[in-house]
Amino acid sequence: MKLDVDVLRYLSKDDFRVLTAVEMGMRNHEIVPAELIDRIASLRHGGTYKVLKNLLKHKLLHHDSSKYDGFRLTYLGYDFLAIKTLVNRGVFSSVGRQIGVGKESDIFEVANEDGTVMAMKLHRLGRTSFRAVKTKRDYLKHRSSFSWLYLSRLAALKEFAFMKALQEHGFPVPNAVDCNRHCVIMSLVQGYPLVQVKQLQNTDTVFDKILGIIVRLAEHGLIHCDFNEFNIMIDDDEKITIIDFPQMVSVSHRNAEMYFDRDVNCIIKFFSKRFNLSFEADGSDSDSDSDAVKPRFSSIKKASGFLDKELSASGFSRKEQDDIEKFTEKIPGSDDDDDDEIEEDEGKDIQNFDSSCSLTKNDDEEQLKGGEDQETSVAVEEEEEGEGE
Ligand code: ADP
Ligand code: MG
Repeated sequence: MKLDVDVLRYLSKDDFRVLTAVEMGMRNHEIVPAELIDRIASLRHGGTYKVLKNLLKHKLLHHDSSKYDGFRLTYLGYDFLAIKTLVNRGVFSSVGRQIGVGKESDIFEVANEDGTVMAMKLHRLGRTSFRAVKTKRDYLKHRSSFSWLYLSRLAALKEFAFMKALQEHGFPVPNAVDCNRHCVIMSLVQGYPLVQVKQLQNTDTVFDKILGIIVRLAEHGLIHCDFNEFNIMIDDDEKITIIDFPQMVSVSHRNAEMYFDRDVNCIIKFFSKRFNLSFEADGSDSDSDSDAVKPRFSSIKKASGFLDKELSASGFSRKEQDDIEKFTEKIPGSDDDDDDEIEEDEGKDIQNFDSSCSLTKNDDEEQLKGGEDQETSVAVEEEEEGEGE
């Protein structure tokens, strides 16, 4: 999905007021009735309807009149709310080119007033392979009802909380800068995903380092669950940085051992295919330069309580953790990774809306409090040549 940030320049205070009113209405309405939006936004002279039309034109809202006349946010509308909030907080002031398209995210460069460039990850749960979405929908139907926007917010919150905690424990991860709604701002990692690397200077060292991270994560009570060549960044000095954390689970998870082994095997398979590293199944690496031994889940001294302690400190509640885990867990038997068809879902199948699944934290509703909101002042670089991988 293109993020046409140019539109941001033309949105007025009233536009954002109405957009925020729709977001608030979505707490307990799948489709928010126009009158309710008008009441929440309380613009003078009944200006809401004109604004709604404008927001619709820019695809920030979706209009639905199947049951009654109402609106809901699109991912783009949600993007703009998050971007506006973060710009107002002074986290960044411009949005640049797209640097990554993940399966369930879009990543852009952003820069602050000092010219420091950072990475902005916009989570887009629900935009994934058709088959996987269907499996997950079927799966969710029996359990609970979530909206994709709510799940995307949780994915961002979880990613931010984990990144911060991991950084504090000395893991090589990006620096977690800030988070709002479904958007995470982090430091820009130099280098490239390992999947793009054809040759290494020190294959054994890099391999050992990577397996070492899996083990150290487990010692801290965690499993990455998507530990592969797409989520490992490497720079010219072969320094490793791990990214992408929304699917991490605790070592006390019922499928922990399976996830741990899958992460380990993924790395072994990649290194043997790409770099011809031979690794004996019995645990000894046949290359004499390396003494790597295949890590076993059962023999790791695992810490417990990491998740609960660290994450609750970041405002990530147990309920939120459970909600997101139900969705991001790779369902045994589903081959989520095989498809590459992308479906733009945008929350069409929100089921019975659960009002506890808020799209914002209470303190994020700054836009509607006080009218002395700053005008949107996002300077936008005109580059549009996103390098989708
Ligand atoms: P997804 O969850 O959708 O897989 P990722 O977090 O793995 O998203 O990011 C997708 C891609 O974006 C990565 O493979 C990488 O190329 C790029 N990317 C993500 N985060 C950063 C970052 N902090 N710095 C530089 N590039 C990044
Ligand atoms: Mg990824």
